Amino acid sequence: MVLKIQNVTMYTGNGEKRLNTSIVVKGKTILATGEEADRLEADTVIDGSGKTVIPGLFDLHVHLGMDGVSDPFAQVAGDSPAISAYRHHVNAQKQLKSGVTSVRNLGSKWHIDLDYRNSIRDGLMSGPTVYGSGQALVMTGGHGYPFSTEADGEDGVRKATRDTLKAGADVIKLMATGGVMTPGVDPGSPQLSEKEMRAAVEEALHAGKTTAAHAQGTAGIQNAVRAGITTIEHGIFLDDETIDLMIKHDTVLVPTLAAPYYIVQHGESGGIPAHAVKKAVDCFHTHRESFQKALAAGVRIAAGTDAGTPFNVHGDFAKELELMQEYGMKVRDIIAAATSQAAKTLNVDRTVGTLEKGKSADFVLLDEDPESNISAFRQVHSVFKGGICVHESANKLEAVVG
Ligand SMILES: [Zn+2]
Repeated sequence: MVLKIQNVTMYTGNGEKRLNTSIVVKGKTILATGEEADRLEADTVIDGSGKTVIPGLFDLHVHLGMDGVSDPFAQVAGDSPAISAYRHHVNAQKQLKSGVTSVRNLGSKWHIDLDYRNSIRDGLMSGPTVYGSGQALVMTGGHGYPFSTEADGEDGVRKATRDTLKAGADVIKLMATGGVMTPGVDPGSPQLSEKEMRAAVEEALHAGKTTAAHAQGTAGIQNAVRAGITTIEHGIFLDDETIDLMIKHDTVLVPTLAAPYYIVQHGESGGIPAHAVKKAVDCFHTHRESFQKALAAGVRIAAGTDAGTPFNVHGDFAKELELMQEYGMKVRDIIAAATSQAAKTLNVDRTVGTLEKGKSADFVLLDEDPESNISAFRQVHSVFKGGICVHESANKLEAVVG
């Protein structure tokens, strides 16, 4: 079965835009794009006039086990393993419908994200491709400890990393600093040390896996970067020295701008714990400035929301992309951050992340061009994953052939 969608505007994912072009899909794979696709015949031809096609989006920082309620840590504490698994599924479906065909899940109690990933991979249910960390690794009493694996010292962290890899993690999540949501913990204070994180990074590299550090304060960010971490999550307090260090190490920043945005928007009146609101308000402007400095300096940026944190619900990836634009990033670069850059970060760019011949047919049709209107990311017409239409708006496109 060959499907052709013609007369569309296309963002390839690596910075290129094409007008009035086509994409042809055969089975699970992109058979052709551009002029080659224009010439090809197909079993079904759809007129995509007025639509914009982009690669399937990647949200590189989600918590499928949390719904975006005002106190998600309490939600996790109250869930049984089965309820948590159902929650993962419901939230992942919201992601998929919004055009997110791949998620990187950073921290699930009982490694439920890894089982959930397997259930999708094995065809038990449909959902986005999940890259999971299982339980995050934290120092004793560190950020998120009630649902993470506590480990101390180089040997302890090395052993915990090996255990997590043995459980099947795609990525090792480390807590390099305190965080907003854990009471009594300062976002600025370092937690796992450089040496501890280096032990984890070494083990992950030996297994061909990547690493991510929750890192908000400057000292902790620097520890993680020097330890060789793949991605810095949040990166709230970035100074020039830290940015230089990130460029030198080719470290990727996943800014999660939506997370503090929603905490500040809803505040204590929204039921968010007072300690979390205070910390989010304190760092809100610094976070924005840090993102802008990193952008101007040319730090590699990949998109992630921290979905699951207060009022930061799954299926609202558009908000993160809107904030990136509001803070000065160009639309084509935003699309790259949410597609090709994300795929490179996960070492999966040979098969996904751009609209190119031979890659997996993961793509999204939007009703509008995001360069004309940034809220186009909210106007998802249809979502294709592996060549299968997994979501379509009621306003179906007519086939001109087939
Ligand atoms: Zn997070």
